[in-house]
Amino acid sequence: MAVDPTDGDEHEVLRQLLYAAPIGLVQTDDSGCIERINAAAAQLLLPLSGGQRLDNLFDLLAPTLPDLPHRAMHGAPGELLLDGEALTLRIGPAGRSRTQVISLTLRRLRADLLITVLSDITTQVERERQLRQSQAWLNATLTGIQDHAALSLDASGCINGWSEPAGRMTGFTREQALGQSAALFYAQGAVTPERLLDRLHEARVDGWSMDEGWLVRADGQRYWGSTMIVPLADTSAPEETAPGFSLVLRDISDRRDAHEKRRRASETDHLTGLANRRVFFESGQREIERWQRAPRPLALILLDADHFKRINDRHGHPAGDEVLRHLAGVMLRSLRQVDLPARIGGEEFAVLLPSTGLEGARLVAERLRRAMSADPITLADGTVIRYTVSAGLALMQSGMARLEDLIERADRALYAAKATGRDRLVVDGE
Ligand code: GH3
Ligand code: MG
Ligand code: MG
Repeated sequence: MAVDPTDGDEHEVLRQLLYAAPIGLVQTDDSGCIERINAAAAQLLLPLSGGQRLDNLFDLLAPTLPDLPHRAMHGAPGELLLDGEALTLRIGPAGRSRTQVISLTLRRLRADLLITVLSDITTQVERERQLRQSQAWLNATLTGIQDHAALSLDASGCINGWSEPAGRMTGFTREQALGQSAALFYAQGAVTPERLLDRLHEARVDGWSMDEGWLVRADGQRYWGSTMIVPLADTSAPEETAPGFSLVLRDISDRRDAHEKRRRASETDHLTGLANRRVFFESGQREIERWQRAPRPLALILLDADHFKRINDRHGHPAGDEVLRHLAGVMLRSLRQVDLPARIGGEEFAVLLPSTGLEGARLVAERLRRAMSADPITLADGTVIRYTVSAGLALMQSGMARLEDLIERADRALYAAKATGRDRLVVDGE
């Protein structure tokens, strides 16, 4: 690279920077004669010169781009003559040659001055090839199995690859599915857009994400299924540029009963069928971790039966149990599948509502409270029992770090509801 003695200091610094840049830069005249070349470009082009001097760019590239001189003849100053053209080069001696892919951009700066930008995109191209291969492999493996279906999702969870088994299993057509969010396969209330993003993130971090729940077919029929999300390639790529995911759907309706039994034994409160205290704290902790990663509305409602001691005293303990079961039934009926209702104490209940803001959570809490007070229980002997609940509502907010912080706030609101007359909802901070 010749040094121009008239260059000022600034030019010299710039020149040195360009020389050391990791992208190949070549300055030629309009016949391809190399006037300046930086280190990265020299490294990319040397294998093409057979060890000869790097004299003429067009000659060096002639085996793969024979029409380059022709293209370079045309074009006004400033015009882009080649834009990221991928050149597949075989370099090295016969028998031990390897493939290298170079991206080439060529711009005319002046009538007699061309700038070429070169970069090695071999790894990127290879990664894309592997990606296509693994997708093809998955499709081939899973075609023909009745209760499995694989399809692919883009980085944001939208369906971008369809398969025949996916159509057979879900009833959707390729046209209906492509471009839709994977939420398409979930029953109403079984997933939120945020939960889907959380699962994509978890799949990228952990290598996979698996879940079971209610799915739905195109005709509206629900089935119990498992969903597995697997990132398609390079987990180290930054999330925005990363490739998508494979989604494997399985219809496991047959397994559902066994699954439910297993769950009932260890995770469910025996009296009410709701999640037990342990599950509430474990799942709640997971929600808080998700919230810390991507803060978004997260609400907690605490409910406590009013004067429950009196109900027990007046009607007996078994009647009290009936009330608790009734109360749990109201909760199960009126919540979404992503919500987490749990019995966390004797006559104390909690509901965690992901992706739910203040007004939404207030509606839910009020609906629960009203349904409970409006719907008395009739025992087998005809006795009618009316009961009410008090509720406290709090939202996860910046400055809060732990599940316990959220519970504490909701608990304070609940205490206020008790103190101001019961059968009412108090919202934290109001
Ligand atoms: P408050 O409106 O202030 O909440 O009054 P309360 O009577 O509901 O509250 P307190 O905490 O004084 O009493 C709770 C009662 O709930 C006492 C306990 O015997 C009863 N209890 C707790 N677990 C069960 C259960 O599983 N079944 C029945 N029947 N009663 C229960
Ligand atoms: Mg009570
Ligand atoms: Mg209580």
